[in-house]
Amino acid sequence: MTDYDVLIIGGGVAGLSAATFTARADLDTLVVNDGVSILYRNAILENFPGFPAGIDSRLFSLMLQEQAERAGCERLDAKVTDVDHANHADGSGFTVETKGGEDDGETISAERVVITSWSDASYLDGLDLELEGSGSKQYVPVDDDGRTDIDGLYAAGRIAKQYHQAIVSAGHGSQVGITVVHDADPDFYHDWVVPEGYFTNRDRDVPEGCEEISEDERQRRARKAHDRLRDYLEEWEDERPVPHPSFVENMN
Ligand SMILES: Cc1cc2nc3c(=O)[nH]c(=O)nc-3n(C[C@H](O)[C@H](O)[C@H](O)COP(=O)(O)OP(=O)(O)OC[C@H]3O[C@@H](n4cnc5c(N)ncnc54)[C@H](O)[C@@H]3O)c2cc1C
Repeated sequence: MTDYDVLIIGGGVAGLSAATFTARADLDTLVVNDGVSILYRNAILENFPGFPAGIDSRLFSLMLQEQAERAGCERLDAKVTDVDHANHADGSGFTVETKGGEDDGETISAERVVITSWSDASYLDGLDLELEGSGSKQYVPVDDDGRTDIDGLYAAGRIAKQYHQAIVSAGHGSQVGITVVHDADPDFYHDWVVPEGYFTNRDRDVPEGCEEISEDERQRRARKAHDRLRDYLEEWEDERPVPHPSFVENMN
């Protein structure tokens, strides 16, 4: 019995971006995250396109998390300690061991696993997967769409050796999420939202993944989206950046 269609290890920029796409495609998605994104160490995020004067990176991370949860993914705050093949006759699926969380450790099974846990890949020791790098900096080799050499196992973001910028991890996480959606081939795929008639007025079927919405619905969704954004900006209380671990060690 498989618990989830997709389990994403790491709830930082790449993981939450991937989850947004897999959850919107109605794949049962769990994000297992331990700690916070490395982006919490940033002072202010000024190079993420779409924010003219930048945005607080901790506020950005919270909004990213809510977006993934609104898309329908579940979240578990726990550390992944081991990933192994599930015992399925056809060789598909994985079992994932966790530590911490509400039940202080549980084993979860998933059809597909996406690794986004910069910078920890130690839990992959049991799998026949050659990592690149050494010591604390290990990278998971992937093809152009984020697939590893093991069927059903993917990696995204910095741990997949992408450039060390948040927009790159967001883009790569999204790309790998879409790869997972294509491989899983679900009945329903929710991607673009277009105005009513955009396709149908041209005698075209609404393509897979697209939704046509009425003008009333467009205005309702836009109002709701902008109200939520306003709430975030009004309620946000400044949080200091998370210091580098060696700095904390030196303080003790
Ligand atoms: C000081 C600093 C400033 C930066 N400033 C900028 C900037 O201005 N602009 C910019 O574009 N980029 C900046 N970056 C880089 C940016 O933060 C990263 O490129 C981006 O966060 C990488 O995304 P990711 O999803 O790969 O990793 P992360 O966002 O770090 O996400 C990885 C997640 O996995 C979790 N995790 C790790 N191990 C496990 C495990 N075993 N089980 C479960 N979860 C686990 C981590 O806790 C984390 O939440 C900065 C980085 C630093 C350090």
